[in-house]
Amino acid sequence: MYSKSEMLFGRAKQVIPGGVNSPVRAFKSVGGIPVFMERAKGAYMYDADGNQYIDYINSWGPMILGHAYEPVVKAIQEYATYSTSFGAPTELEIKIAELIVGMVPNIEMIRMVNSGTEACMTAIRLARGYTGRNKFIKFEGCYHGHADAFLVSAGSGVATLGIQSVPGVTATVAQDTLTAPYNNLPAVEQLVAENPDEIAAIIVEPVAGNMGCILPQPGFLEGLRQLCDANNILLIFDEVMTGFRLARGGAQEILGIRADLVTFGKIIGAGMPVGAVAGPKEIMEHLAPAGKVYQAGTLSGNPIAMIAGYTLLQTLNDNPIIYQQLQEKSDYLVKGLKEAFGSAGVVYSINQMGSMLSAHFAEYPIVDFSSASGANNELFKRFFHAMLERGVYLPPSAFESWFMSNALTTEDLDATIAAAKAAMNAIK
Ligand SMILES: *Cc1c(COP(=O)(O)O)cnc(C)c1O
Repeated sequence: MYSKSEMLFGRAKQVIPGGVNSPVRAFKSVGGIPVFMERAKGAYMYDADGNQYIDYINSWGPMILGHAYEPVVKAIQEYATYSTSFGAPTELEIKIAELIVGMVPNIEMIRMVNSGTEACMTAIRLARGYTGRNKFIKFEGCYHGHADAFLVSAGSGVATLGIQSVPGVTATVAQDTLTAPYNNLPAVEQLVAENPDEIAAIIVEPVAGNMGCILPQPGFLEGLRQLCDANNILLIFDEVMTGFRLARGGAQEILGIRADLVTFGKIIGAGMPVGAVAGPKEIMEHLAPAGKVYQAGTLSGNPIAMIAGYTLLQTLNDNPIIYQQLQEKSDYLVKGLKEAFGSAGVVYSINQMGSMLSAHFAEYPIVDFSSASGANNELFKRFFHAMLERGVYLPPSAFESWFMSNALTTEDLDATIAAAKAAMNAIK
């Protein structure tokens, strides 16, 4: 059933560290051989052995309208003939910037980069340059990419591999990263009190997606906003997952809380390597060449990546019904999963906001990294494989969110729920 994937993994391990170009793909958390993909269309992925899967990772978010979305594919094909890169500015970069500034609340300017990692790294540098302070606060289990300063209590990828402190990240870099448990406002207040006038920024996933999906408890983000205002700290929303997914304007819009800087990735590039940092002019103009905070990129604003992102974002902007449909589909799936788990007699806790969700096998609410870690992640492993065998591709780690696409039909959701019932009965 997976013989080609097995062969490919064997070959890959000879020439690529661990056989993959990003760790979570290796299935270390769930065991077994990673499935090598060949193509995908709409809600389905097809592996090297010809197996079909209903996809619930959607490239970790970008494929919000399904794979190989026709208008994006066509736009890429057309623009590729104009050259894949100029190393000089284009009107297209203005068009996507104008579009995003119109979609997202509280931003006036945006700088395009090549990944979510770069976006978050730039946001922190900008916050440091702007405030003249060195330290920042992040939350345990939140992931902001793999830049040195973020690899402290860094969520899914690192948690999956059981790495405590990352070799290669020096103690001097790590000491400027302060951490608090997610949803724990008093812990943040204490850090701020202990480090007066030293904290440049608080960076947070407004809805966490890298320890499973974890919702901000009422008052948590509001409290961070007040704390930042009172202490001249910048509040950075890492919307690499939530941006353009929870709403046109991301978490800021749906939760009604203003961030000082916002980072994007994933959906913004429609599956091409793109990230961005955005905010008000007053802060953003500290970035080079307008200001002194240096940041650059040979391929930043790449025309193929920009036309892909622009085409997808325009569709999302013009069709607010997409968010309603995603919500309905996600609600339907969650209801069905609850029935499936309930009838199999397993304890579970499902978190969901819009089209992000995760299922944890625990009898208590999952509100932070330690509660997520305490769930029955052995059962998740077996559930993952039982679902894979039944043609459903879930994230290969209990510490990752599931991402819905609007290509999913009611039949797909029913098939997933039926698979979940059968899977649970087979493994419990
Ligand atoms: C994926 C992710 C990143 C990193 O983005 P890359 O494009 O993988 O570098 C940063 N922050 C969050 C919240 C993410 O989910």
